[in-house]
Amino acid sequence: MQRFMGKGIVEGAAAGSVFFREKEAQAVARAAADPAEELERYQLAKDAALAELGRLCEKARTEAGEENAAIFEAQKLILEDGGYNASVSAIITEEKLCAEYAVKASGEKYAAKLAATGDELLKERAADVKDISERVIRILCGGAEGLKAGEKRILAAEEPAPSDLFLFERGCLLALVTKELSAEAHVAILARTMGIPVIAGICPERGWNGRQAIVDGSSGSFILDPDEEMLGELRRRKAGEEERRKALRELKGKASQSRSGKKVRICANIGNVPDLDSLIENDAEGVGLFRSEFLCMEQGGLPSEEEQFEAYRTVAERMGGRPVVIRSFDLGADKQVGSGETEKEENPALGLRGIRRSLAQPEAFRTQLRAVLRAALYGDVLLMFPMIISEEEFLQCKKHVAEAKEELKQKGVPYREELKLGVMIETPAAALISERLAKEADFFSIGSNDLTQYTLALDRQDTRLAGLWDAHHPALLELIRLTVENAHKAGIPVGICGELAGDTTLTQAFLDQGVDVLSVPPNRILPLREAVRNCE
Ligand code: PEP
Ligand code: MG
Repeated sequence: MQRFMGKGIVEGAAAGSVFFREKEAQAVARAAADPAEELERYQLAKDAALAELGRLCEKARTEAGEENAAIFEAQKLILEDGGYNASVSAIITEEKLCAEYAVKASGEKYAAKLAATGDELLKERAADVKDISERVIRILCGGAEGLKAGEKRILAAEEPAPSDLFLFERGCLLALVTKELSAEAHVAILARTMGIPVIAGICPERGWNGRQAIVDGSSGSFILDPDEEMLGELRRRKAGEEERRKALRELKGKASQSRSGKKVRICANIGNVPDLDSLIENDAEGVGLFRSEFLCMEQGGLPSEEEQFEAYRTVAERMGGRPVVIRSFDLGADKQVGSGETEKEENPALGLRGIRRSLAQPEAFRTQLRAVLRAALYGDVLLMFPMIISEEEFLQCKKHVAEAKEELKQKGVPYREELKLGVMIETPAAALISERLAKEADFFSIGSNDLTQYTLALDRQDTRLAGLWDAHHPALLELIRLTVENAHKAGIPVGICGELAGDTTLTQAFLDQGVDVLSVPPNRILPLREAVRNCE
């Protein structure tokens, strides 16, 4: 038995077998114990990559036309190319090195050859070869030890990306152990929404793969090869947690109202349709934030209009008339989809993120808008836009919504004409011009995670800065106060949907300010209702 102490990032405890996920950058030369096995791993990863490319190709064909689909067709041909495959096989069988390295080295060799020809077209193909190699390496790293269907595992990964959480079937990811992760990073937020305990500050090792472990996301302790006594202790703890949950369940159906009668609507943050179960189980009064970009990450690419429509419609229908606030894709920064679809940026948090990306990709943006407009017929759907910094940006969004309506009208597809449009207040700029934005918007939602990041100039992902992260900083609280005041002056509702919404030390202040909505991960709804009911 070995005990490691890290930092608890998402509370809760779990026991199970470890799944070690190799860091992609670690496609370094590692001796292959059994070259035949490595060859088989390569073949499986190649097949999976070909299937992925096939799906991307289809999507590109329907959404961006034949010309764009041809890029993925060409990539498929390269991956089936005899020379490329012979090079991978030779490195595995003759040099007896691992598949990841064989793919990396072959990709680099082919890309260099093509780039050296000086031919512009062939140079472009060089980028495709690199892209393909990265895709295969990613699959090899994700499935190195083979995740079996329905198998429940603890993920141990040095630098997990949000998409890594979707490697697992729903309900099969027990917990996450990682080297570096801040509580405000999207991986942590996603895990919190899905109720997955997380510990950071522990460097995972390849040798842990398949071994039993206990993760305690509250204390930050990670126990490898636990004995029966420790497993018994975990069972007792879980029984205690169940008692607390039972007591909280008494609050289901009760009003989110303080002793003096101040009311607030407590909604849930979700990332996809399966999160609805825990939202309903915890008696949410609506969906305050549907992080629609998680649909992209789950799928490894942009979902089609039909796929999005299905997801939004299901959520709207199941909420049965309670409000559902969909946020348009907030891609970029630490929320990337698939390989090769995004460029490297110097400062991704300050780069092509959120609404900037949607406005730069109008086809994809309007696909999403059409899906939302159609789904809005099935419930009380609202739409909001992330990372707004100016009135101009919001007006552009409105223009795209009008155009999306026109497109649907032309095609005779039914949609809701009256769709409420909101601004996410996530930048100091938006908070400071909230008086003007309130004249254009139907509602505000304060994204306190990003508002903290951009107000304090602190990268929410950088764990070295965790000591400086202060969501109670007077500058931040002042921006929130100003936003709430300006919203109410204009007669529009305002909510908070960042992590701060669930901070019960601020509940009284939010009630006093008259914040209309607090939106939190599903398992925080009832503790928050309890706090509201204990407020004056
Ligand atoms: C926020 O920034 O507070 C927010 C709700 O959006 P996200 O955490 O997804 O960036
Ligand atoms: Mg945000």
